[in-house]
Amino acid sequence: MIVVIKKNQEKTQVDNLINWIKGLGLGVHISEGENSTIVGLVGDTSKVDIDLVRTLDIVENVTRVQEPYKNVNRKFHPQDSVIDVGGHKFGGGHFQIIAGPCSIESEKQIIDVADAVKRAGATLLRGGAFKPRTSPYSFQGMGVDGLKLLKKAKAETGMPIVTEIMSEEHIDDFEGVDVMQVGARNMQNFDLLKKLGKLKTPILLKRGIAATVEEWLMSAEYIMSEGNPNVILCERGIRTYETYTRNTLDLSAIPVLRERTHLPVIVDPSHALGISRFVKPMSLAAVGAGADGLIIEVHNDPPHALCDGAQSLRPDQFADVVGCVSKMLPVVDKELD
Ligand code: PEP
Ligand code: MN
Repeated sequence: MIVVIKKNQEKTQVDNLINWIKGLGLGVHISEGENSTIVGLVGDTSKVDIDLVRTLDIVENVTRVQEPYKNVNRKFHPQDSVIDVGGHKFGGGHFQIIAGPCSIESEKQIIDVADAVKRAGATLLRGGAFKPRTSPYSFQGMGVDGLKLLKKAKAETGMPIVTEIMSEEHIDDFEGVDVMQVGARNMQNFDLLKKLGKLKTPILLKRGIAATVEEWLMSAEYIMSEGNPNVILCERGIRTYETYTRNTLDLSAIPVLRERTHLPVIVDPSHALGISRFVKPMSLAAVGAGADGLIIEVHNDPPHALCDGAQSLRPDQFADVVGCVSKMLPVVDKELD
């Protein structure tokens, strides 16, 4: 349910209404706009007498929200959410490019790639330390040692860092990580989502391999309903019957999400296509479709990468993508900063 408060109402009266709602055992999401304040009610609103609320002097109107997601719903928060990561903003017309290797492999590798992607124009650095591999016999990532190297790369380059968390038992080790990624395979790990909801660290929530947009938004709702408003969605391709690409990049999800949610949405063309030569065209397509950023895998020696070499760009190829994306951004009214 959404209660729209009339313009210029006394704060004490608005507070009284909010306290009354909370007294009914409901959560409250407040969005202060220029012309009105929107109070979103979260929980079982069947107990709320909608006619009674409508008659209050301070209330402009009241509507029921049919969608099961509330906090992430654009109806609750009409303006785009802008999420600040170390001075780099996601959403609201800002555009970010996250780049780096699939996995951290050594100190030299992560520092070299970090320097290269920074020079090419990336604004944040990615690198996996805990890797969710399909086979238990594949490289599983460097774990906590990898996180230490990634933090070193952050210290040397000044770039905020993005890395995947697979288990709540590692939360303490992620101190100093700027964005915690929840991978496709963990999109519905609800216990992990609830734990991350207790933090304020921005969460990059990737779309599950076979998740509908609504299931994805419900996972974001798990994080937000626990109190963490800093959720960035990442479209990374879904499983279809197509086999010529690793996944099928669902760019149509972007305008759909734009309408449904106020959260920023970025695109991962590397995991979606799985083939490095397709990363550039789909990066440009993502910009055209309205994405708020990209996350791209870059490796200094793709043929010898321990993970996802086939989809990784060399730094010079990545620089070319950044150059073309930068030319497109003014067309969609966005800025790389
Ligand atoms: C990754 O970003 O390295 C990764 C494993 O992504 P996804 O969860 O989208 O497969
Ligand atoms: Mn990867």
